[in-house]
Amino acid sequence: MIKTLQDKLKNKEISSRELAEEYFRNIEKYDPTLQAFMTVTPERGFETAEEIDKAGVYEGVSGIPMALKDNISVKDIRLTASSRMLEEYISPYDATVVKRLKGGLLMGKTNLDAFAFGASTENSGYMVTKNPWNTKKVAGGSSGGSAAAVASGMAVFALGTDTGGSIRQPAGFCGVVGLKPTYGRSSRYGLAAMGSSLDCPGPITTSVEDAAIVLQLISGVDPMDATSVDIQVPDFRVFESIKGKKAGLPKEFFDPSLVEGLDAGVKEQVLATVKRLQKLGVEIVEVSMPYSVFALPVYYIITPSEISANMTRYDGIRYGHTTLHPEDLLDLYKTSRASFEDEVKRRIFVGNYALSSGYYDAYYNKAMQVRTLIIEEMHKTFEKVDFIVGPTSPTPAFGIGENTDNPVSMYLEDIYTVTANIAGVPAISIPCGLSDGLPVGFQIIAKQFDEKTILDVSFALEQDIAFAKSYTLDLTKL
Ligand code: GLN
Repeated sequence: MIKTLQDKLKNKEISSRELAEEYFRNIEKYDPTLQAFMTVTPERGFETAEEIDKAGVYEGVSGIPMALKDNISVKDIRLTASSRMLEEYISPYDATVVKRLKGGLLMGKTNLDAFAFGASTENSGYMVTKNPWNTKKVAGGSSGGSAAAVASGMAVFALGTDTGGSIRQPAGFCGVVGLKPTYGRSSRYGLAAMGSSLDCPGPITTSVEDAAIVLQLISGVDPMDATSVDIQVPDFRVFESIKGKKAGLPKEFFDPSLVEGLDAGVKEQVLATVKRLQKLGVEIVEVSMPYSVFALPVYYIITPSEISANMTRYDGIRYGHTTLHPEDLLDLYKTSRASFEDEVKRRIFVGNYALSSGYYDAYYNKAMQVRTLIIEEMHKTFEKVDFIVGPTSPTPAFGIGENTDNPVSMYLEDIYTVTANIAGVPAISIPCGLSDGLPVGFQIIAKQFDEKTILDVSFALEQDIAFAKSYTLDLTKL
């Protein structure tokens, strides 16, 4: 879509201003129901459109309407991370990924689970984003606002962040493409940190080609992020044949004694997609990844531990909501931090517990050791196959309120996504069909810095599945 729109811009069939108008109109139409946007930014969007129309240079994403998850800094624009803690916080600088999307027309900042802690956007301190396929269902999370915005045509593309699945799972739930790059491929500078050893910004788009275009721009080493890696960035926008490649299908993914609650419709669609791969000349190899089963418990020790450290900055002094007339310093901390949402508090508690002396070895250290085993297992698997496939999530979008009383059942939603984050490898979710009228995400995982293979495979499958042509989302009911 980005390429087609830029061709139209070049041929003067449409102007950036007109494009911005069209997308802002869609926001007016659909957002009161979907609630995907925390902040809508017409001033900024039109200002950029005017500059682009004047310059007449169309490269990268210039002139294209975009949305950014509201945990990504845009200079002089509010960043809430969808937490009451940051209700009035204005970003003083641009995140590196934002700088690299120069010329994109900012439609607004999108809703998320507060600080990206969640899998449904129900943990937002403000509102629940609805799934455009069925507004009684969640859009997924934590980048639920970004996925819903792209799926419903309120932005051509969006950025999300993925610490344990937050790009792929909402993209899967909303029937769009979501790509988590390799850890270190895209800079974390300017993101509200969640788990610093796992966080990755990446694109949510309606096509694989658009994902490649956006990834191309946001990739590359950044002096402001010491964990970004100085490694060559290939041209992701040319797709090669996948004939003769080998796909690994981990048997653990489909073992009901290890993975609870894999929906029958999801399983059917995923296995049908595996057949398509075979038809496209890919050899399917059954692989065993016994340690991958421990990725979820490891994730839910390491992430809260890193979260508890990252959240100390919101003390009512340096950042965030401040109580104006505290009795003393302790009261200042206590009352200021009371504005944290329940899930935020829960993760701080769990993290502090796992890191406290006496428990550190039993929990955090143990989790780090198992993390190493998972990474080694991943490396070994990639000696046998070029990529790994499976479901993005065990179920399609679930009902709003269905999992909110039970944090553990919500955490189980992440069972298929967290392994890639724990191992630092890239992964994508592409729509592969419907189950009960709701989109199903197909996940493709590759070795570190091999986003190219992921995109080649996704592109071939996208042509074969023709999801967008087969299933059109009916927005007239919104
Ligand atoms: N659902 C996961 C969690 O709650 C992933 C979140 C994320 O990737 N930001 O931790």
